[in-house]
Amino acid sequence: MNKMTLADVQTRGKRVLVRCDFNVPLAGGRVTDDTRLVASLPTIRHLVEAGARVILCSHLGRPKGKPDPAYSLRPVAERLGALLGQEVRLAPDCVGPAVEAMARDLRDGEILLLENVRFHPEEEANDAGFAASLAALAALYVNDAFGSGHRAHASTEGITRHLSPSVAGFLMETELEHLGSLLSDPARPFVALLGGAKISGKLDVIGNLLGRVDRILVGGGMAFTFLKAKGFEVGRSLVEEDRLEVAARTLEDAARRRSAIDLPADVLVIESLETGDPGRVVPVDRIPANAIGVDIGPRTVEAFSAILDGARTVFWNGPMGIFEKAPYAKGTIAVAEAVARASDRGAATVVGGGDSAAAVAAAGVQGRITHISTGGGASLEFVEGKELPGVAALTDRPKR
Ligand code: ADP
Ligand code: MG
Repeated sequence: MNKMTLADVQTRGKRVLVRCDFNVPLAGGRVTDDTRLVASLPTIRHLVEAGARVILCSHLGRPKGKPDPAYSLRPVAERLGALLGQEVRLAPDCVGPAVEAMARDLRDGEILLLENVRFHPEEEANDAGFAASLAALAALYVNDAFGSGHRAHASTEGITRHLSPSVAGFLMETELEHLGSLLSDPARPFVALLGGAKISGKLDVIGNLLGRVDRILVGGGMAFTFLKAKGFEVGRSLVEEDRLEVAARTLEDAARRRSAIDLPADVLVIESLETGDPGRVVPVDRIPANAIGVDIGPRTVEAFSAILDGARTVFWNGPMGIFEKAPYAKGTIAVAEAVARASDRGAATVVGGGDSAAAVAAAGVQGRITHISTGGGASLEFVEGKELPGVAALTDRPKR
């Protein structure tokens, strides 16, 4: 890692602005999964113990550039305070005179959480004036929001032009080390396992991964776009029609390079998502015209598991089915176990993506995975070999 980190800087008595990824799920005004909050505790605790004046900021959801109480960070302030055993004050906004006064009043070791940066359209527009207003609150910038690293926004990129040095927090550092090891000389065979629902983004990922990995296993919703591109009937399964051509080209590209893209051989199909239909397994060339594919079938599980058993590096993003519903979770749970077994045998295993991390937890194998990334899109772009703007903008470590 050639970026300066929190360990390289003195923070006592300084106001330090930390960009965190507190984009957590909420229900009824409470945080329902605090994984991302727990992941940022090492950086926050380090700063508090060092006597820094800690100013935290984050986005939450998509509030459309204006204040919306449904996307307030108040539940985060409360849960974070409980986790730290210390008050986390919430500012009424993230910029402006009232917030500046609160920042100025901070004493060593105290924590202030700014309100959602996306309450301002300037955040996503990476507006220079807005970035300068954020920067005015502090003397030093720490980026611990790996999950937002692929976005050039004011609080992840623009701000680094106004505060120096800009350093990586401990979570960011851990993420970059683990994901970086997938890029530089990974042990082979290197197998990527992809699934989930965000097809359009992930199709491009597959194209870019072809040159990096030895094999790509495709399950989940995205498999149906490939199956349809190959000419199979996929019924009413999730398909992105306008991506069929890209999918077909990706398959041709893979054939030309002799790198394998493995699609499901069988799938679990249902008639309706509403009725709790347990479904039935069919080979992919027998999907009925009215059926919906919701999981990979047992033959596919066996084939994918055998390939994972021989892997020495595994990157997994995206569940193999609609795993939130127990009858359709078998394939996802089985591959999670196969990834964990690969880990047990010494393979480096990295899982990225919120739903994939939840699937790993549902399978009860989180302790056996080498690294569970807090970033979904960011981890994918990183593994594709793309530069993440929020990371590139951090201060380089001086060459010795
Ligand atoms: P991640 O959060 O790990 O990056 P995604 O958000 O891309 O993963 O995908 C997760 C979602 O994909 C889950 O909500 C899951 O229900 C859905 N999904 C998986 N397989 C299918 C399928 N066959 N049809 C529809 N949705 C699916
Ligand atoms: Mg998701």
